[in-house]
Amino acid sequence: MSNSGKVEALIPRCLCSIENSDNLNIDFEDLCSVSMSWENGFVSELKPLKIKNKKPNNILFPRFVEAHSHIDKSFTWQEFPNLRSNYDGALSINLQEHKTRNTKKVLERAEKSLNLAIKNGYRAIRSHIDTYQNQGNDVWTDLFKLQKKYSSKLQLQFVALSPLDFWQTKNGKKLAKNFSIHKGILGGVVVPPFDKRETRKLLSKMLLLADQYKLEIDLHIDESITEPGAGVKLLLEVIDKLKIQVPITCSHLSSILFLKENEILNLGQKLADKNIKVVALPLTNFWLLNHKSKITSLKRPVAPIKQLQKSLVDVSIGSDNVQDPWYPFGDFDPLYMMSCSMPMLQLNPWERMTLSSIFLAPSRLLNLKWDGLIKKGCPADFVILDAQKWADVFSSTLKRKVYIRGNLHC
Ligand SMILES: [Zn+2]
Repeated sequence: MSNSGKVEALIPRCLCSIENSDNLNIDFEDLCSVSMSWENGFVSELKPLKIKNKKPNNILFPRFVEAHSHIDKSFTWQEFPNLRSNYDGALSINLQEHKTRNTKKVLERAEKSLNLAIKNGYRAIRSHIDTYQNQGNDVWTDLFKLQKKYSSKLQLQFVALSPLDFWQTKNGKKLAKNFSIHKGILGGVVVPPFDKRETRKLLSKMLLLADQYKLEIDLHIDESITEPGAGVKLLLEVIDKLKIQVPITCSHLSSILFLKENEILNLGQKLADKNIKVVALPLTNFWLLNHKSKITSLKRPVAPIKQLQKSLVDVSIGSDNVQDPWYPFGDFDPLYMMSCSMPMLQLNPWERMTLSSIFLAPSRLLNLKWDGLIKKGCPADFVILDAQKWADVFSSTLKRKVYIRGNLHC
């Protein structure tokens, strides 16, 4: 059978659930040796492998989940570079790009992104799509067709990223209604400086609209170096007042890093109480925020992952932009994202909470059927690397094989 096979591999201990774990051979980097078989696209056997003084030559991961991307603008850097590499430049060049975009261009970028993502080992992606008042709905019809076209290989989730006031217009309400059929997500930007009163009003309306159609919300919030936490504090205030339960994701949440330690923990507790999830986006934050052309500074905010996790917030790490005015590098490769993020954020790959933010939290964020834990009965959806230690995973000569439902993807 083509979708059956077997492998001897190392798997991070926290990413596999195994019976008879007493005999498990776990090395000092928390990689355990297992023997695994799969049939009809699902894992049929997973057992400890104990061969004295011999380690498997593979490291196996579940296929990855991207918590935050922008497939509608990826690869626009060539035409729309932001050579000053700052936030304001990115925003204004993004708007220039927007004037020239059409459905065909968006679909080409999206397909290029998805094909790369599948090849590199992703099984699901949440992508924000720029959405404006004067834009027709054609792009959405085609994007939902694309979602269906790729569904056997990759699960695609869309967020309509628009100015907050869009959600109180006729077109905004129409799109929200359409999203209730297609399970789209309402998006927006809450970045200071903003008019507090007006933003409070717009956020309330957006939350009520989401509640009306049972939709989720994912906000680009506090992606800033000023007014630490101003956006999230206002959001919490609005939620308290409305007393409604809408699933919410805070993407970026960078500036709260500048708050005092106990303030971060308190804020984290409030987010956890309301089951608000966070997506940390270190690559774009480190690239754009507090960019100085003449001095090298390390004062760059990113969501404080460890403090938020300590407060029991479910934090995912995402890649964000790929080769567009916001970020000139990347190619939908989860291993590139991991290689950059771990040293940046001082995250140990042999720790459970680190791998949770890369594999398990994103699966929960996207409400995927499979939580990403390798166990008997799970889908045979793997990325298998020619590697024996973490240093090999972050090496430039890395070779990988991607299995989708038990079949090698070529
Ligand atoms: Zn983004």
